[in-house]
Amino acid sequence: MNTIRLTILLFLTTALSFGQNTTYWQQSAEYTMSIDMDVTTNKLQGTQKVVYINNSPDTLTKVYYHLYFNAFQPGSMMDIRSLNISDPDRRVGSRISKLKDDEIGYQHILSLKQDGKKVANNVQGTILEVVLNKPILPGKKSTLEMEFEAQVPIQIRRSGRDNAEGIRYSMAQWYPKVAEYDYLGWHTNPYIGREFHGIWSNFDVKISIDSAYTIGGTGYLQNADEIGHGYATDNSKVNKKNAKNTWHFKAPMVHDFMWAADPDYKHVTAQVPNGPMMHFFYEETEENKEAWAKLPEYMVKAMTFMNKEFGVYPYEQYSFIQGGDGGMEYPMATLITGNRSFTSLLGVSVHEMIHSWYQGVLANNESLNEWMDEGFTSYASDITMHYLLPDDPSQADVYGGSIRSYVSMATSGVEEPLTTHADHYHTNRSYGRNAYSKGAVFLIGLNYILGTDTFMKGMRRYYNEWKFKHPTPINVLRAMEKVSDLQLDWYLEDFVYTTDQIDYSIKTIAGNGDKTYITLERQGEMIMPIDLEITYKDGSKEMVYIPLRIMRGSKPAENKEMQRTTAEAWPWTYPTYTFELNKNSSEISKVEIDPSGRLADVDKSDNVIDFTAIKPFTDPTK
Ligand SMILES: [Zn+2]
Repeated sequence: MNTIRLTILLFLTTALSFGQNTTYWQQSAEYTMSIDMDVTTNKLQGTQKVVYINNSPDTLTKVYYHLYFNAFQPGSMMDIRSLNISDPDRRVGSRISKLKDDEIGYQHILSLKQDGKKVANNVQGTILEVVLNKPILPGKKSTLEMEFEAQVPIQIRRSGRDNAEGIRYSMAQWYPKVAEYDYLGWHTNPYIGREFHGIWSNFDVKISIDSAYTIGGTGYLQNADEIGHGYATDNSKVNKKNAKNTWHFKAPMVHDFMWAADPDYKHVTAQVPNGPMMHFFYEETEENKEAWAKLPEYMVKAMTFMNKEFGVYPYEQYSFIQGGDGGMEYPMATLITGNRSFTSLLGVSVHEMIHSWYQGVLANNESLNEWMDEGFTSYASDITMHYLLPDDPSQADVYGGSIRSYVSMATSGVEEPLTTHADHYHTNRSYGRNAYSKGAVFLIGLNYILGTDTFMKGMRRYYNEWKFKHPTPINVLRAMEKVSDLQLDWYLEDFVYTTDQIDYSIKTIAGNGDKTYITLERQGEMIMPIDLEITYKDGSKEMVYIPLRIMRGSKPAENKEMQRTTAEAWPWTYPTYTFELNKNSSEISKVEIDPSGRLADVDKSDNVIDFTAIKPFTDPTK
């Protein structure tokens, strides 16, 4: 009996692991860092130990690190890029080219060892290359230890000191960070201001800093009762005589570690029921205090909503920290500028927190597929903002903003495909529209194709299957295929790999006795199924649903109250499609393609026809 049970159990375990993508692997790292920060010179001394675990099937002879602070020096690749692109980010402009010696950023490697022995390394710009003494074999680990010093640059982009709102330290991209190695090889993109891709890691970080400073960031504070600063449950143990405090943080399963520090932070907390503790750090002013006081209540609601709709946030903490230069997402925290109106503060806070799903937990390679984090975050933000502010007219049109923004780019003649690497877009505008708007429109289109209920199941399935991994576009699509039993490969191939556009029209409506013939035309290259709503003069409505033959199936009726007819599927090579309606044309008042507004048709002027356009039918065969 026992043997049989054991055999079944073994078989099940094997079957389960083979049911997953057996070729998938990801690297991992254990960081231990100790930092001594000098708030008068803006320099830090640090030691770093990385236990690097090679889960790849490859033997590694080199390891690379990012030294992001080196980008903030005159003549850096980021500087030259900003000076030459036609629409530079106004936060960068020519500012890097004018930095003085005590304003630049740098990371200097003072010593480096592999498994206790000195190892050769060289630095080019923001990339440190280490030629290993001993290769790291598949499945093996190696320990890399370094001493480094860094100067925190004046805040130009994302990280730095003394930002526009007077926050002393926004410490993002502040430590030598091991580059990611995956199925595509090493990702040693020089830092020119755009996107990130990091190793799933555990961090143990100690930061010594002037005791007046409060720190917020990634990770759980291990010595809260000793530190105080709004973290202690019992303030009697707080040491108030130290010139410096040593803050000890641990962060499990994250792909980056950010922190921020300021002597004037106000620190408040709010508990999400059955969820994480939220922390808020900001410099309170007369102008901003009302907005920040209102924020916690709304963010507790926002996270509860996201947990229910999109999958459960897996950490026990999340922090909103005033800092940086706009809004930027990091694991378990965000840096946002804080002197804003309430709606603006809420909007940026919602967007950055939702990045915990699409970037924090689903860590797609942002450089390759920035639209998967920015676009999906924009999509979920629009839905969450509508939920939080149901009576606010600016939030009423949930999909319209992203669609209009995408369509204006698509019809401009200079759209680049979504497959463009983030660093290589010709303009910042093109990158921005694709990442935020077309990425959101990708999901709006799936919502239209699958129907909202099935689509939301797909979003949760994608999250649960790919959390703590590095998903790619095909993983989103496969999750959607599995929940819908539809074939969707054409959607990815057309919408992501090309700049094909959706453009359908109602070509003719012709009556013949008790029948009406509605002919649709596909004028764009991008194919889509069609929801065609027919309104009759008696006020009743009917939905005619025309799936694509290539989908090999159809979506369920979305509105159970309305009569729906599933028409014969449209074979996509046919430019036109005629539907025969068993109604006298005189009964029809209006015919409209996709009244839900989810179809990103670039020309909607020919998507509606009213009854006055109907002509008598003449049979061309007679
Ligand atoms: Zn974003």
